[in-house]
Amino acid sequence: MTIDQFNFAGKKAFVRVDFNVPLDENFNITDDTRIRAALPTLKKILADGGSVIIGSHLGRPKGPVDKFSLKHILKHVSELLEVNILFADDCMSADAATKAATLSPGEVLMLENLRFYAEEEGKPRGLAEDATDEQKAAAKKEIKEKQIEFSKRLASYADCYVNDAFGTAHRAHASTALMAKYFDKDHKMFGYLMEKEVKAVDKVLNDIRRPFTAIMGGSKVSTKIEIIENLLNKVDNLIITGGMTYTFTKAMNGKIGLSICEDDKLDLALDIMKKAKEKGVNLVLAVDAKIADSFSNDANTKFCKVNEIPDGWEGLDIGPESEKLFADVIKQSKTILWNGPTGVFEFENFTHGSRSVGEAIVEATKNGAFSLVGGGDSVACVNKFGLASGVSYVSTGGGALLEAIEGKVLPGIAAINE
Ligand code: AMP
Repeated sequence: MTIDQFNFAGKKAFVRVDFNVPLDENFNITDDTRIRAALPTLKKILADGGSVIIGSHLGRPKGPVDKFSLKHILKHVSELLEVNILFADDCMSADAATKAATLSPGEVLMLENLRFYAEEEGKPRGLAEDATDEQKAAAKKEIKEKQIEFSKRLASYADCYVNDAFGTAHRAHASTALMAKYFDKDHKMFGYLMEKEVKAVDKVLNDIRRPFTAIMGGSKVSTKIEIIENLLNKVDNLIITGGMTYTFTKAMNGKIGLSICEDDKLDLALDIMKKAKEKGVNLVLAVDAKIADSFSNDANTKFCKVNEIPDGWEGLDIGPESEKLFADVIKQSKTILWNGPTGVFEFENFTHGSRSVGEAIVEATKNGAFSLVGGGDSVACVNKFGLASGVSYVSTGGGALLEAIEGKVLPGIAAINE
């Protein structure tokens, strides 16, 4: 079932959203992108004459705590949605059940943070540090059983289930996956946001126009290895950049000074290079670097060859030759995936490389390429440089997007499709 096919008139929809927004110390929302992203789904249901039960998590609470209460965001959601929203301060209480049962068309109920219950994540809480393996296994079994009851109860509040929380789609939690079991195929669906995310991932995995270029940046090879290995089977060009560069440079006996490096991953770097060669993938690495004499925005800087970094200096961004090299590859691509900056983009003086990659992607997109940008830092980059509207799709998912591209089946997606 798709959300556009479904008529919500007279129906109660449980909508799992990702309202895990950043709050300041006075509980003001500092970035409401995630809330705005779910509005089209919520509005469609209300416009049809349906009612909405909103379920979300906020933060990583280990029990009920005021700091992570969804009541802090209630007013803002209500203003954006232009309806008054009822609140149930305990998602399992009789009050929650009654409020859900008596919802009228056009009304919205928000449930308190689902992660106030350990059942949501299905992981035992409060286990003694010296718990035996048996005790751990028993606690795990118990919480899994309780999770089923929790999922059933959430499902009982509604006639249909809508998952619009791509950011948590890689988690097999009660509200993101398990509760979908209690709805038949005709009564569960993706929300608009999730639909867009799923389509975007599908395009770079299964509907590839070539050349396909992936730009993988960020600090460490070890955290990106699975995705890099999966991409080697798909891409024509793989640009590996950011802090990862120096592990490759050192593996090829280059001088990297104080640059970030995973010394235990040198063999892995060589292996990636070998695999790329075997598979006919054009692996592109930086040829020069913008180096600094300390890890700071105010450091002295200069450019040098990536494998000739003097002692006491470290590479914090790519240099102009690498920018050109990367841009040339990107501009002739028809499918582009970008994850991770080329340097320490948090420091203004080391943003140039990431900006130039972003600009090349925008130009390629203008020329008809499909470009997907995802993962927290690359999204921060395109937003910081004002380039978001020039790429085809900016994903809201960090971990979820990367797992999808690694080729993993995301529980939140599988639960709707099965
Ligand atoms: P990740 O979380 O692995 O995607 O990495 C993103 C982080 O990598 C950002 O915080 C960047 O500051 C950092 N990073 C990128 N390039 C470098 C570099 N050359 N040296 C140190 N950190 C870097």
